[in-house]
Amino acid sequence: MDWEEFRRWSEKAAGWGADYRASLRDRPVRAQTAPGEIAAHIADSPPESGEPMEDIFEDFEDILVPGMTHWQHPRFFAYFPANAAPVSVIAEYLVSAIAAQCMLWQTSPSATELETKVVDWLRQALGLPDSFTGVVQDSASTATLAAVLVMRERALGWRGNSQGLAANKAVRIYCTDQVHTSIDRAIWISGVGSENLVRVPSGGPNSAMDTQALAAAIERDRAAGLLPAGVIPCVGGTSIGGCDDIAAVVEVAHAQGLYVHVDAAWAGSAMICPEFRTLWQGVEQADSVVFNPHKWLGAQFDCSVQFVREPEALVRTLAIQPEYLRTHGHDGIINYSEWSVPLGRRFRALKLWFLLRYHGLEGLRTMIRNHVSWSQNLAKRLAAEPDFEIVTQPFLSLFSFDHKAPVGVDQEEHTQRLIAAINNDGRIYLTQTRVEGRLLIRFQAGQFEATAEDIDTAFDVIVEIARSLPQSYGAAL
Ligand SMILES: *Cc1c(COP(=O)(O)O)cnc(C)c1O
Repeated sequence: MDWEEFRRWSEKAAGWGADYRASLRDRPVRAQTAPGEIAAHIADSPPESGEPMEDIFEDFEDILVPGMTHWQHPRFFAYFPANAAPVSVIAEYLVSAIAAQCMLWQTSPSATELETKVVDWLRQALGLPDSFTGVVQDSASTATLAAVLVMRERALGWRGNSQGLAANKAVRIYCTDQVHTSIDRAIWISGVGSENLVRVPSGGPNSAMDTQALAAAIERDRAAGLLPAGVIPCVGGTSIGGCDDIAAVVEVAHAQGLYVHVDAAWAGSAMICPEFRTLWQGVEQADSVVFNPHKWLGAQFDCSVQFVREPEALVRTLAIQPEYLRTHGHDGIINYSEWSVPLGRRFRALKLWFLLRYHGLEGLRTMIRNHVSWSQNLAKRLAAEPDFEIVTQPFLSLFSFDHKAPVGVDQEEHTQRLIAAINNDGRIYLTQTRVEGRLLIRFQAGQFEATAEDIDTAFDVIVEIARSLPQSYGAAL
């Protein structure tokens, strides 16, 4: 492709993106395709000779776009958001065009030095003390893996990487049943093993960890010759927004010499608003904290920030310096690849810089405050309807609810059918969760472009579809 053609198609792609974003409200939120429907339109083998760009672009529009679930749709209320503010998309165009590998300081000093600055901007924005420094990781899963590796190495006297785990006492890590599956996978990948991930009981309105039970579990393990290493509390769990008391967890963990990694992947963005910071009180004492600007804040995926109090521990665990990765003649520089599991790194700081400068913290706070109040208002409106029940109360902008099944209809089957009917309708998109065995519908407001009217539409759609479902399913089956 010559540079004139590159320019033409880049401009076409940018124009397409703008039209796409502007037209989202007219599209069904969740893809309305059956499994295999898209694959049936894709050639089984790669072409031997090149094809015209016109054909490729046309197929993209005709075949693939209809099979997309529109994560930037203003009425996306499923999962957690993966917001890509328009300004962060522009930054990503530039990053793609430059396509630098930002693994070492010298492989792009701007990327490293901007990363140090914007991570510190975010530290200040979240109200964390300057004892924290941090790094941009690709995802919270990777940040948590890095934290678990640090817990493991620290507990093993930094010998795990050399000796492996078989030569040592079993490393033990503690969390509740509210944590994200990324914790389980970090435990698998680090070799700690799921049998050594201790599920401490939780309870109360926030499903918080019982810290007396935590202390007892640590002591029991030590007495049994095991090696307690770290605790992973969460702030805003994925299912219903479970939230541990960080101050209480840290007190127990640090008294026992354990490392604390806080998973606030979703809820961390809300901490730019000072009024929400009581939810993670004590976080300033944690050893490591992860939050995803690529969720609520609006930095295009992928962009996860891990704050750490002792970067030396991270570097001691992960750094490896063959000659070809050494930077000679510069002292005190940071090579961020030594702070993370992958070597290669994209220039992720640029979109944060664009996002924070364009919107300002106040613009982002307003968005988050709106989402929280709209969601809480929706929960109140649904609660006031006789056939609806709010089962878990809003945690920030996340709550779960259920609709009473008609007499004689199985509740779980009814709830399942309601979710399917809502998502097949296409005007909004919701997902489900299971709490104490019960299937529930999850709602979160967090889309960057959502308005109060979009939340009103959600109310209308939910009520309309719930009440239009058949009163019995016998015949429909
Ligand atoms: C989304 C989420 C994760 C995983 O984030 P990735 O960046 O996709 O790895 C982990 N923990 C919580 C609480 C989350 O909400």
